[in-house]
Amino acid sequence: MPAIEGRPRPAPIATSKPFWDALKEEKVRLQRCGDCEAWVYYPRRRCPSCLSAALEWRQVSGRGRIYSWTIGRQATHPAFGADVPQLLAMVELDEGVRLTTTIVNAEPTDLVVGRLVEPVFEHGEDGMTLLQFQPVAGSG
Ligand SMILES: [Zn+2]
Repeated sequence: MPAIEGRPRPAPIATSKPFWDALKEEKVRLQRCGDCEAWVYYPRRRCPSCLSAALEWRQVSGRGRIYSWTIGRQATHPAFGADVPQLLAMVELDEGVRLTTTIVNAEPTDLVVGRLVEPVFEHGEDGMTLLQFQPVAGSG
C-alpha cells in the first residue's frame, strides 16, 4: 500500500462515488446511457451525447489500449518526485471512453500506441483506490 502523504487525492461526490466505490472492490464501472446507449466517462449527471438523465452503472473489464502517452521526467507534483520518470497515458477502454492514467509495472519502452493494457488497482492508505494500467503480457 503506497504512502500518500502530500499527494493530491480524489474527492468523490455523489455523482462519482459509484465509480470510486467499484475501484475499492477491484472492479471498473462506467455509466451507460439508457436512452442512446453511449458509454460515459467521467461520471456525470446527464449523458453528454443526448442529455438524458437515464444513466446506469455497468461493470466492464477495464481492458483497453494505449491511445497516447508521455514520459514525465519532472514530477507532475512535488509528492510524485520518487515516481519519476512517470509513465503517463491516455487509455481508450474497449467501450470507447478515454481516461488519463498512469502506466505501472512497465518500462518507458513499453509505451506503444495501441498496446493492450489491463487495470491495476492501487489501494491507498486513505481508503481510496486509484485506477492505473499495465501492459498485457505478450501484447508488445
Ligand atoms: Zn444518451
